[in-house]
Amino acid sequence: MKITQERFVHEFKKRLAEKFALDVKDAAPIELYQTLVSVVKSGYSEIWRNTWKSYVKNDQKQVYYFSIEFLPGRLLKSNLLNMGWYDVVDKGLKQMGLSLDKISESEVDMALGNGGLGRLASCFMDALASDGLPGNGNGIRYKYGLFKQKFVDGYQIELPNEWLTDGNNWAVARKSKAVDVLMGGQVHLIDNGKYLEAIYEGADVIKAVPYDTGIVGYRNDHVNTMRLWDAQIPASEEVKYPTIEDRRRVEDLTSVLYPDDSNYEGRILRLKQEYFFTSAGIQSITRHYKKYDRPLNEISEHIAIHINDTHPAMCVAEFMRILLDKEHMDWDEAWQQTVKTMSYTNHTIMAEALEKWPVEMLAKVQPRILQIIQEIDRRYALELEGKKDHDFIERTRIIKDGMVKMAHLAIIGSHSTNGVAKLHTELLENDVLRDFYELYPERFNNKTNGITVRRWLQVANPELAKTIDQAIGTAWRFDAKKLHELKNHVGDKKLLEKIGKAKLDNKKKLAAFIKEDTGIEVSPHAIFDVQIKRLHAYKRQLLNLLHIVKLYLDLKDDPNRDVEPRVFIFGAKAAPSYHYAKAIIKCINEVANMINNDKTINDKLKVVFLENYGVSLAEKIIPAADVGEQISTATKEASGTSNMKLMLNGALTVATLDGANIEIKDYVGEDNIFIFGLTKDEVLEYEKNHHYRAAEYYDNDPVIKRVLDAFVDGTIPNIEVEGHEIYDSLLRVNDEYFVLRDFASYVQVQEAVSEAYKDKQNWNKMCLVNIANAGYFSADDTVEKYAKEIWNIKPNATEMKGKAKDVYPL
Ligand SMILES: *Cc1c(COP(=O)(O)O)cnc(C)c1O
Repeated sequence: MKITQERFVHEFKKRLAEKFALDVKDAAPIELYQTLVSVVKSGYSEIWRNTWKSYVKNDQKQVYYFSIEFLPGRLLKSNLLNMGWYDVVDKGLKQMGLSLDKISESEVDMALGNGGLGRLASCFMDALASDGLPGNGNGIRYKYGLFKQKFVDGYQIELPNEWLTDGNNWAVARKSKAVDVLMGGQVHLIDNGKYLEAIYEGADVIKAVPYDTGIVGYRNDHVNTMRLWDAQIPASEEVKYPTIEDRRRVEDLTSVLYPDDSNYEGRILRLKQEYFFTSAGIQSITRHYKKYDRPLNEISEHIAIHINDTHPAMCVAEFMRILLDKEHMDWDEAWQQTVKTMSYTNHTIMAEALEKWPVEMLAKVQPRILQIIQEIDRRYALELEGKKDHDFIERTRIIKDGMVKMAHLAIIGSHSTNGVAKLHTELLENDVLRDFYELYPERFNNKTNGITVRRWLQVANPELAKTIDQAIGTAWRFDAKKLHELKNHVGDKKLLEKIGKAKLDNKKKLAAFIKEDTGIEVSPHAIFDVQIKRLHAYKRQLLNLLHIVKLYLDLKDDPNRDVEPRVFIFGAKAAPSYHYAKAIIKCINEVANMINNDKTINDKLKVVFLENYGVSLAEKIIPAADVGEQISTATKEASGTSNMKLMLNGALTVATLDGANIEIKDYVGEDNIFIFGLTKDEVLEYEKNHHYRAAEYYDNDPVIKRVLDAFVDGTIPNIEVEGHEIYDSLLRVNDEYFVLRDFASYVQVQEAVSEAYKDKQNWNKMCLVNIANAGYFSADDTVEKYAKEIWNIKPNATEMKGKAKDVYPL
């Protein structure tokens, strides 16, 4: 039946009484939250089941998206929105004297990822469901999510994130669907006359138990599944693990998320995690496929498997293992099916982030997988003999110098390799993966990243969303490209004012949060200048910091200087082992202290570094941002997605010509973005010829000299060690990321930002142009392209676009 406010209130009270024997006025926030989750789940569970059944009934091809990280954040509001329940529930709760915003705060972020990679996977999950596409997630259910960040004396401290303490309220454990994953031991091949039989000896058996979370499509009666695996001890093996410590050793396999997405620590546990979720996923997929008696030599017509970055690259070998060892397919046929089934997304060109594993480590984790990879590699080299020269073959093979190159495995073992922005794909084709592009040009393609406009605008910024409705109607909520109709309203002064008003209201809310969280008072009338992303040298938070120090020193010289007040807002976690990044955090915090406590500065300059950046914090910051900082060294940021979220919320971008910034610039036009810095060609030229001398910039530019000296001469207090580290990284280690080279042009473009902010109407017009073009970065469209061009999957009968669907039943 259709949900009404009355029915919702009745149902909510009934469940609260059943579950906790409480009435509304006596219930704690967490109890209210858990009750609300149970009502919401009851609204989509039947549709979830039907979606699943329809795939079987229609014999529909499905995609399985393998990702070692997912970063969904909170699900409550997003599910309410997608079900069409948001307003009714909001009002119903108010009727009971409750607040949806408050209840929602009880949900602990599901932070099973580090940053962009995991968030992309979650935006894609939302988009797959909302496009009505048969798409499943496959990943790991880490017991501890990404660490919780605190600052103590300006230093980052990492605390465990126990997100499961109150139970995960969304997932369903499916013990009956568990599979056994074999690790370690030895393997022998015996020719039994019919096929080569793999005999495993001394392997550990680990039970992989799936936890399924429903991924609710936007008003289309379509609910997909994100399946995350937990490691447990099988009943048959219990005696092998008599003590609690023994048991913990197994269960710890899925305990921690490795807290870095671009440098891996050479730890065998990480490799075991990779094999664990890959094997569990592949086994459950093939088991399901076989249940319906379809021929295995057609499996690639029924399923597609996507490898999100190289962590799941063992999918190639595990799929081969099942087809060869379990199904006794011959090699060539198995290989053909594997390549047709697999596809791969590359996320980085940074050499240190390209995954490699020692052969002996792989031998310890799964000897059969190593054998298969060795055979794939042998056949690859053999096939190219006589066609390519020796060097080419050596450069591109999978195993070289005792190391297994995961990207090579993924490329050779799949039919599609894509980059995540035009520039990134171009760099893959012409530079990093040039050899493979020469070998398999037809396999390479670009899929520029996207974001879900539902979470990042409809949920995060209701005031702007309503303003947009008033101007162009609500069709954009179903098809984000329609935001472009806003372009017809650039001259509408009333609308521009309303956009400005929504921004100001959001800034007031963020200012209140900042006050509560940090004690710092900021004026909502200042420019809110935001850099939120993982802390990494290539992302250049340091460049931002140097600019802040310059502004401060300018104000110290002349306190009456006429400046446009600014609040610089940072959110960033550093990998716990990433020493340099943590030094930068310390320096930002000390500069912030110095500036915020300097009475002569007043409200002209403030610096706020919010703790524990994550999806929920992003949802608070982004709607309030005036300026988004996307200032990575050209060529280093594959795409970026916070650039898209910020423009969608009407922030103007300060950007280098890197990643998707270039495409943003092409859409909004040069007048509506602030571009600075070295181009890709200039960076590549420097890297080739080694002509860059950072010290020259220090010697010849008095501004740079003064700013850098402040890090080592006591001007900035409490950074004796870190200040020198920063200073040395720029001047002695020669500034790997060209911070000093780009400094002058960065300062210049920041002056243009201040100048532009003076003309509010024109500023709001630029915001509007950004919002209008952000729909081109909707994950719905990105995923549609993956579906058509890579996976060859089709939407279910339920079709979302353009039709306002009815709400989910209650
Ligand atoms: C979008 C997002 C990211 C990615 O930001 P980039 O600036 O593209 O690196 C990282 N973390 C969170 C929580 C996000 O929402």
